[in-house]
Amino acid sequence: MLRGILRSGRVAHAYLFTGADGAGKSAFAREFSKALNCAESHVLSDACDSCGSCLRASRGNHPDILEIGPDPHLRMEQVKAAIKHVGYKPLEGRFKVVLLLHAEAMTDQAANCLLKSLEEPPDFSVFVLTAPSAGSVPPTVASRCQPIPFNACTLEDVLAYTRERHAGHPMCEAAAFWSGGIPGRADLFFERDYLGARNKALVVVERISELDIMGFAEGLGKEETSPFLDCLVSLLRDLVVIAARGREGLFGNPDIRDRLEAASASWSLRAALVALEETLRTRTVISLNANRRLAVEVLLLKLRALAGDGYN
Ligand SMILES: [Zn+2]
Repeated sequence: MLRGILRSGRVAHAYLFTGADGAGKSAFAREFSKALNCAESHVLSDACDSCGSCLRASRGNHPDILEIGPDPHLRMEQVKAAIKHVGYKPLEGRFKVVLLLHAEAMTDQAANCLLKSLEEPPDFSVFVLTAPSAGSVPPTVASRCQPIPFNACTLEDVLAYTRERHAGHPMCEAAAFWSGGIPGRADLFFERDYLGARNKALVVVERISELDIMGFAEGLGKEETSPFLDCLVSLLRDLVVIAARGREGLFGNPDIRDRLEAASASWSLRAALVALEETLRTRTVISLNANRRLAVEVLLLKLRALAGDGYN
């Protein structure tokens, strides 16, 4: 869509990129501003990434591109600086670009100030605002911007993304599944110790009947709990796929498929489904500040009962 806008040469004065955190709004906003000012392309299409203009934009010191935010409160002074920026002719590029990242954090005063500039934009000015949704900025601002929605990507696309960025890592599939189609969320998966967390979750699905539940719950650190539950969800989901004889492509942890096949002997389809539900519920109650250790203990006791008598 953005390439099409660039090629058409009909660049609007304001865009509103909307979508979840991690969907790539800021990254695309920066690429777009770079492409708008690339010195190499005679017809606008994409940034060459090698001309002086592109290199300066990549380093964040292009004189015609101003990036504001993210900030807990985008204040009027910052918007005034943006308006001043677009008030001058471009120094070396084609457009004076302002990136307003997380525009939902604008104060009312700042939004009113911006509105004046959006109503009568200078010829060569381009504003790119990012926000979770069009409804999270004042309607008067949203209505003056061309909306560019960043929807969830397909599983295949996120998988291609994780494989490119984390080549050879055994958790690329699990990360792609966990991301819900949001590439930046898949990155988080690698930043936290998900491999360690998955090993702990694997202990639960493989050996719940003999597990020292109290000791296990006590040994689970505060930071570890959320990745552990995420991984447990992912493993139980795979057990459901195995029990339901689902498609190969639905597998979230293909690198440990053998171990999950073996573990599936203790998990009927129904048991795995109920366990999955219970784990999701536990994740929610912990996020609502329930006693973390107690919630994990209760969950594991339920899982033991489910795996034990099959729950057929
Ligand atoms: Zn260039």
